[in-house]
Amino acid sequence: MDFLRPGSWEEALAAKAEHPTAVPIAGGTDVMVEINFDHRRPEYLLDLNRIGELNDWEVGEDSVRLGASVPYTSIMENLRAELPGLALASHTVASPQIRNRGGVGGNLGTASPAGDAHPALLAAGAEVEVESVRGSRRIPIDDFYTGVKRNALAADELIRAVHIKKAEGPQQFSKVGTRNAMVIAVCAFGLALHPSSRTVRTGIGSAAPTPVRAKAAEEFLNAALEEGGFWDNGKIITPSVAKQFADLCAAACNPIDDVRGTASYRRHAVGIMARRTLTWTWESYRGTAATEGAA
Ligand SMILES: Cc1cc2nc3c(=O)[nH]c(=O)nc-3n(C[C@H](O)[C@H](O)[C@H](O)COP(=O)(O)OP(=O)(O)OC[C@H]3O[C@@H](n4cnc5c(N)ncnc54)[C@H](O)[C@@H]3O)c2cc1C
Repeated sequence: MDFLRPGSWEEALAAKAEHPTAVPIAGGTDVMVEINFDHRRPEYLLDLNRIGELNDWEVGEDSVRLGASVPYTSIMENLRAELPGLALASHTVASPQIRNRGGVGGNLGTASPAGDAHPALLAAGAEVEVESVRGSRRIPIDDFYTGVKRNALAADELIRAVHIKKAEGPQQFSKVGTRNAMVIAVCAFGLALHPSSRTVRTGIGSAAPTPVRAKAAEEFLNAALEEGGFWDNGKIITPSVAKQFADLCAAACNPIDDVRGTASYRRHAVGIMARRTLTWTWESYRGTAATEGAA
């Protein structure tokens, strides 16, 4: 196995163009497990750790540009206000050691349906900035996951950054596992309120071949909130609306039975998480709206 160590982004792109089968390694928390278990024996490893810019982030007016290798710990410590859903998801990843190494670029590279960043990215609305020697493009997160552990990257492309909309309303993330730490999700759910567009977005993890949004549930809820004037009057969401939303989220799942849980349990749990995260975020929105109204 050859170890390629580019010193700059341009060198990394050139190396990937020359060796398209080279496997990039960032934190290594997925790659090294695969190599150690002999699930993968790449001819080349492409080490991205000398490329400092991949560990940087920029907070813009509307969005955050998150370098591909920014570790979960930095997201939790520095971007909680801008990216609350992703910060909450980061908290649930593995252990402090893994959170110090692993990042969103690696989660996207692996594209496991159980990756914890995905529901938060889907709910917030994100774009993945990828590049090759041929040029750069931005892939909307909805188009990024193409199959079980498959993504939309071409063989010569690398992930440079992820652009995530800054939160303008409450966001939540919920994960079911057998314990609180060091656990792969049985299933997970992300929800973000977007008051300026009066929309709600969702993300479901580990309950379908890829991370998915519950689009029918979102459409139902958006219409119900609009019809009842909820965004303006800040009323409590009625139990029947919350239940219908939860049922539609459960229906958006296409899970399997595996060692971590059955398909029917996953559907059930997604429904529960959908109702809970909706209640938490809406209560928080009502609180903020009430404070703003009083000011
Ligand atoms: C003990 C343990 C517990 C874990 N628990 C969790 C958990 O709770 N939740 C969770 O979501 N994950 C978990 N993981 C998986 C892993 O930590 C995450 O997926 C993490 O986000 C991977 O990031 P990384 O930087 O270490 O990726 P790496 O291992 O370096 O790379 C992962 C994949 O992404 C590709 N890649 C990396 N960077 C780029 C780039 N810039 N461009 C293109 N491709 C790239 C690599 O080639 C590889 O295919 C766990 C892993 C371990 C070992």
